[in-house]
Amino acid sequence: MARELNPEKQPEDEDRALRPERLDDFIGQAEARSNLRVFIESARRRGQAMDHTLFHGPPGLGKTTLAQIISRELGVGFRMTSGPVLARAGDLAAILTNLEPRDVLFIDEIHRMNPAVEEVLYPALEDFALDLVIGEGPAARTVRIDLPPFTLVGATTRLGLLTTPLRDRFGIPTRLSFYTPDELFQIVTRAARLMGTPAEEAGAREIAARSRGTPRIAGRLLRRVADFAIVEGDGEITRQVADGALTRLGVDALGLDGADRRYLRLIAESYGGGPVGVETLSAALSESRDAIEEVIEPFLLQQGLIQRTPRGRALAMAAWRHLGLDPPGQGAL
Ligand code: ADP
Repeated sequence: MARELNPEKQPEDEDRALRPERLDDFIGQAEARSNLRVFIESARRRGQAMDHTLFHGPPGLGKTTLAQIISRELGVGFRMTSGPVLARAGDLAAILTNLEPRDVLFIDEIHRMNPAVEEVLYPALEDFALDLVIGEGPAARTVRIDLPPFTLVGATTRLGLLTTPLRDRFGIPTRLSFYTPDELFQIVTRAARLMGTPAEEAGAREIAARSRGTPRIAGRLLRRVADFAIVEGDGEITRQVADGALTRLGVDALGLDGADRRYLRLIAESYGGGPVGVETLSAALSESRDAIEEVIEPFLLQQGLIQRTPRGRALAMAAWRHLGLDPPGQGAL
């Protein structure tokens, strides 16, 4: 029978060539990097599979990239799938039984795994074993198959949605945080060099400062600014070209895009600055609650533009200033 979805996927990225391949080329996340270096080296010296690792943090911060780096540094194979794609227990069993000893299995969006599939994962993680039910009804029995020792690398944007038993099975939980403008500047400079696009320091810094703390966004903005530089300039990314291009793309000085500003304006203009519940915002913006909580809010929180209160989201003073609006009760004094 034809499969609609292949449960195993490959990292697909327009800029696969830009992905750092070694831990030494990976910029930022200094603490995570130095810890991983120790765990990788220790697993190599012991000749054993590295402990299961969980990366959590907003999208585009390098979870997939780090998983690939781990397999490369360990000198083992890399298999990749994702929670929503593993529809049935058999999908995961097929992948697990095909692993080579010490391979890295990467499961993206692991919080969205079907509970029946998650059940298969527990003995696999703990005992490197697969419990298969053979037969039906009273004749059904369970047989246990040994699996090769492997390393599961899980990635999630929502640590809170992981079940406790699953979370507890990761020996190395690692949180990734937003990148500083300096780190993003280094990432943009490296990517521009690999693309063969000349970039002035001030131009690269402008892109870095407006990338929402996120390497994936930095890469995307760099490519768009490069387009403008080629078509409307002499091909070089200067501060002026970057500023003009980013402004035309709707990316403001803080790096907020149209969706971010719509979110802030809605709270300001329709709810007097809040607090307002996320469901209400989701309905008014026609954005899924997940997109609001995983993509929009983490950066706004980190920038101190919004606050999460027990009664919902509220604008911080900095957001009013950024929008150029007066907070209620403080206007026209
Ligand atoms: P995630 O899995 O967290 O969504 P990815 O690992 O897919 O993020 O990274 C998104 C993009 O950003 C990739 O194209 C990758 O090359 C780039 N990237 C991520 N982290 C870094 C980094 N530290 N240095 C350079 N590029 C990075």
